[in-house]
Amino acid sequence: MSKYSIGIDLGGTKVLTAIVNKETGEVVSYEKKKTKKDKGTEKLIQKIINSIYIAIEQAQMSIEDISEIGIGAAGQIDRKNGIILNAPNIECENLNIKSILEKEFNKAVYVGNDVEIATIGEMYFGAGKKNKDFVCIFVGTGIGSGIVQDGRLRYGATGTAGEIGHIMVDLGGRPCGCGACGCLEAYASRLAIEKRITGALKKGRQSDIVNYLEENKPIKTSMIKKALDNNDELVIQILNEAAEYLASGLASVINFYNPEMIILGGGLMDAIDYFYEHTIRIAKIKSLPVPAQYIEFKKAQLGDFSGVVGAALLANYRNSLKN
Ligand SMILES: [Zn+2]
Repeated sequence: MSKYSIGIDLGGTKVLTAIVNKETGEVVSYEKKKTKKDKGTEKLIQKIINSIYIAIEQAQMSIEDISEIGIGAAGQIDRKNGIILNAPNIECENLNIKSILEKEFNKAVYVGNDVEIATIGEMYFGAGKKNKDFVCIFVGTGIGSGIVQDGRLRYGATGTAGEIGHIMVDLGGRPCGCGACGCLEAYASRLAIEKRITGALKKGRQSDIVNYLEENKPIKTSMIKKALDNNDELVIQILNEAAEYLASGLASVINFYNPEMIILGGGLMDAIDYFYEHTIRIAKIKSLPVPAQYIEFKKAQLGDFSGVVGAALLANYRNSLKN
């Protein structure tokens, strides 16, 4: 069996495909393609297939050098049958991605969700490789988490455990994409932070960030970082506010679950030390004293690659559970 496999991270804005050495976690080659929601499922499938061919070519390999394919998608997954049931950000429903890719490449295909694969990546080769009990929390467009207990992911009764983004932090507060109000991700996700900045600028607040904005383009993490480095009052205020809410969510996790460690990932956590440090400082203050003293925080270590590395190891992980 080859030590190389293909990992695919299918998110709301991009598909990232990599050839990964499963023994070392090394990304041998990768291909990133932007996805657009309005282009339809057929185009999306074609993009995924093309990205696999390109990644193989860049690695100067052939499909014969690959042991299997793993894919994680941002949505609800039927893990057993390899079907993406519902993925509103990707616009596919009941998509049997397993059978499509198996037919095309004649390799076994394993399907999981995006947070699951990123957690597996961190568990094998990232911040979680020395621990068996931890929670991985990813702050991105939304906020999701993977729960690892005794080296195994906990999925819950319906496979949806870890939806920390929908912990309620403000009763009757801001509306959330899930239909409820006051959910954590309406306050502390990257999208929520972007919305707060855009809203404040529309109301006439001054900010250094306007110097970096491009017309009709979303606010990037690098722009937030630049404004923060220039001590921009508005950006500091909005990050502080988001950190306060995120810390409340983390304190709930610490008090309820008493994990050994929390790993924090996602672009904002990765790039902005201030946001990371500020969040964990408040989380410790808000938690009960005993678990707060014990808890260890770490940043996710694989950055953008935690998902593809975990997807490439999905087969190894699932097979390890059978033993
Ligand atoms: Zn919600």
